[in-house]
Amino acid sequence: MKKTISFIMLIIAIIISLCNFQKPTIISFCKEEVQNFNQTYKDRTAGSVGENSTANYIMEKLEEFNINPFFDNYIQKFKVNNQSSQNVIGFVDNNSPYYVIIGAHYDNVFVENKSFGINDNASGVLTNLNLTSLLRDANLNYNIIFAFFGAEEIGLKGSEYFLNSLQKKILDNIILYINLDSIGAGDNLYYYHYDLKTIYGNYIDNFAKNFEITKLGKDKLYSNTSAFGINYNHIGLNSDNASFLKKGINSLTFFAGNLSATGFGFFETEGQDKIMHNSDNIQTIEEVFGEKFYSNMENVNNFVYNLMISKDFVSNMLEREINPTLLSLWFLKLIGILLIICLALITFFLYICKKKRKTL
Ligand SMILES: [Zn+2]
Repeated sequence: MKKTISFIMLIIAIIISLCNFQKPTIISFCKEEVQNFNQTYKDRTAGSVGENSTANYIMEKLEEFNINPFFDNYIQKFKVNNQSSQNVIGFVDNNSPYYVIIGAHYDNVFVENKSFGINDNASGVLTNLNLTSLLRDANLNYNIIFAFFGAEEIGLKGSEYFLNSLQKKILDNIILYINLDSIGAGDNLYYYHYDLKTIYGNYIDNFAKNFEITKLGKDKLYSNTSAFGINYNHIGLNSDNASFLKKGINSLTFFAGNLSATGFGFFETEGQDKIMHNSDNIQTIEEVFGEKFYSNMENVNNFVYNLMISKDFVSNMLEREINPTLLSLWFLKLIGILLIICLALITFFLYICKKKRKTL
């Protein structure tokens, strides 16, 4: 009898563990490493010496976690405003034609004695670093690129440079870009994907029901003014995911904030609007948000990890529609080409008529 009860208990335990999502903990890692950003890597302004030494710190972490470089070296240098900036790119090669990219920018908006880019974006960088070791050994049926972009704050320069340096066969096979930007300091967690009626979007929306996270729809803070070369603007596109959208690549982006507050939305809590880049240091964040800062990062980490290890992830991500933004650009280009051809034909016709009249 005892044996039967223990057997039943064992079966129940196995079923419960199978049903539960795996929840790897990242809080201790973030608590330790965030001090580096708050003390040593305070100023990571695009093109600065501090940005460069932070890139080296990220590179050392990738080496420590046994992540290979994507290019010959981890560091991909580029010029921006006559200064030198760089991306740091790690790679897990699973011998697949498909790629998923997880990205976080590591440069910041530095304000002396006040703002060291802890939420924006040490939170994304640390979560991305934590995901490297979790996903490295997961035996997935696609390759993973871990991207740490420089020069995001001055116009998404790092991600743009990185995408322009990729071969077409890789660009065409990126099944999803996941963007982590400012994911700790906020009352709520939000996610945004380019909100087409695609299977990939529906799949992510269904998956998100397992988490305490709000979908940021197209209705939220939509603007007709263009930004980053896209012909409309949206709060969910104020980061490197806009560079991917321009290339027609599906993306999923996360951030923490409070959109019912009256400010911009990022890094906000009720009653304290627009504190984003004025006091982005760990002391203020812990005072205002406490443990929430770390649990938000943990939730994003768990969301991304469990999404990426889902069995039907690739098949759902592969169902794509043509990006209407690109489609409208192609359409405009086509109209332009047709107009030029018509003008050329009319000119040629008039020239022939004139010539014939002269000969008569
Ligand atoms: Zn940011």
